Amino acid sequence: MQILVANLGSTSFKYRLFALEGDQPRLLTRGGSERVTDYGAAISRALTELSEDGHLRDASDLAGVGFKTVLGGEISGCVFADESVEQALRDTADLAPAHNPPYAEGLRIFRERLPGVPRIALFETAFYQWISDAARRYAVPEAWFKAGIRRYGFHGASHKFVAERSSELLGRQDVADVAKRLYLDGPKEVAGAPLRVISCHLGGSSSVTAIRNGVAIGTSMGLSPQSGLPQSNRVGDLDSAAIPCAIRRLGLTLEQTEKQLVKESGLLGLSGVSNDLRDIKAAADAGNPGAQRAIDVFVHSIRHWIGAFWLELGGCDALVFTAGIGENNPWLREAVCAGLSGLGLQISPARNTTAPAEINLAASDSATRVLVIPANEELVVAREAARLLGSLKPVS
Ligand code: ADP
Repeated sequence: MQILVANLGSTSFKYRLFALEGDQPRLLTRGGSERVTDYGAAISRALTELSEDGHLRDASDLAGVGFKTVLGGEISGCVFADESVEQALRDTADLAPAHNPPYAEGLRIFRERLPGVPRIALFETAFYQWISDAARRYAVPEAWFKAGIRRYGFHGASHKFVAERSSELLGRQDVADVAKRLYLDGPKEVAGAPLRVISCHLGGSSSVTAIRNGVAIGTSMGLSPQSGLPQSNRVGDLDSAAIPCAIRRLGLTLEQTEKQLVKESGLLGLSGVSNDLRDIKAAADAGNPGAQRAIDVFVHSIRHWIGAFWLELGGCDALVFTAGIGENNPWLREAVCAGLSGLGLQISPARNTTAPAEINLAASDSATRVLVIPANEELVVAREAARLLGSLKPVS
C-alpha cells in the first residue's frame, strides 16, 4: 500500500509518494508544480504523472492521502480529515490566511476526485500539545483565552523530525523512540540525563522550538504563523500597541494593516529588496543597508529565542538548523553561533559547509553539538497517517 502526502503552498502544489513496508514509510517519488493558480488542475496533473510513470497503478493502491494542515482551532493532532476539518480550516483562515484556504481547497478536491481514499490531516500544532500552561498563555483576560487566543506553535512536523533524528545522531536511541512514538504514547520519562535540543527551522517561514527528551516544551510561534521570528513576508513578533498606532498615525484601515503585516513585512519589509534570503544576502554584500538590516534583525531574533530556550532547558546538547535557509547558508549559521564559546558552543569553520546533507559543524571541543538536519516533514506526515490507518507495523 502507498501513502500520498500533499503539500499545498499558497502558490505551489507538491507531493511525495511513500510505500508502506515495515515500520517506516519509504519514499518512492516526488513531484509537483510551482506558480499554481488552479489546485484542481495541479492535483489532476500529479495523479496523471503518478499513474503514467507507473508509481500509482490505481487509486485503490492508495491507503490514504496525508496533509500537513496548519491550524484547526480546537482540532489538532492527527485526524481523519472529513468535511468538519475542512470547515475548521475555513473558520480559522483569519489566523492563517496563506495556509488554511489552500488546504481546505485541497481536501475538498481530493474528497471529490478520490472519494474512496481516506484523507488524514496531521496538524502543525500537534507537537505543542504538551507545552506548559505558562508557555501557552498570553496575559489576556480569560474570555480571550476561551476564544482560542493562545500560543499554538507551528512547523510541528519539521521540529518533530528534528527531535527524532537529532536523538539518533546523539546516540540516544531511547529518546528517539519516545519521539517517534510521541503521538501514540505521549511523553515518556527516560533514564539518564535529559536530552536538550534547540531546533531552528529557518525557511520561507521560520521558528525555533525547545525540545526536552523528544517533546516540545516551547516555541517561538504563537497564535498565528505571523509570530516569532521575522518571516519572509510576515511580520513576526510585534507589540500589540503597534496595530492601533499604525492605524491612527498612517491612516490605514484594519484590513490594510493586516495585509501589510502578512504580505509586506518580515524580511521583505525590512530589506525593501526581496523576501528571499539569497537576494537579500547578495544585496547586502553589494552594500545595500536595508538588506544588511534585514539580516541583522533576523539573526538577532534567532539568537533571542535560542537564548530563551537555552535557559528554559538548562543547557543545550544540540543546536539544530533545518529548512531552506538553515540547511543552505553557512554564513548565517556562523552569525547565529558567534560568541557562544562561553556557553560551551563553538563551530568549526571547516565543517560548516554547504553540503546538502546531515553535518555536525561543532568544533571537536564544543560541549554543544551543532547539526544540520535536512527537513523531512513529509515522512512524519506519512508515518502518522499510516498509523492512524493501521497500515504500519508498530515502531519497537
Ligand atoms: P518553504 O518554507 O517555502 O518550503 P524553504 O524551506 O525552501 O521554503 O526556504 C526558502 C528560503 O530558503 C529562501 O529564503 C531561500 O533564500 C533559502 N534557500 C533555499 N535554497 C537555498 C540555497 N540553495 N542556498 C541559499 N538559500 C537557499
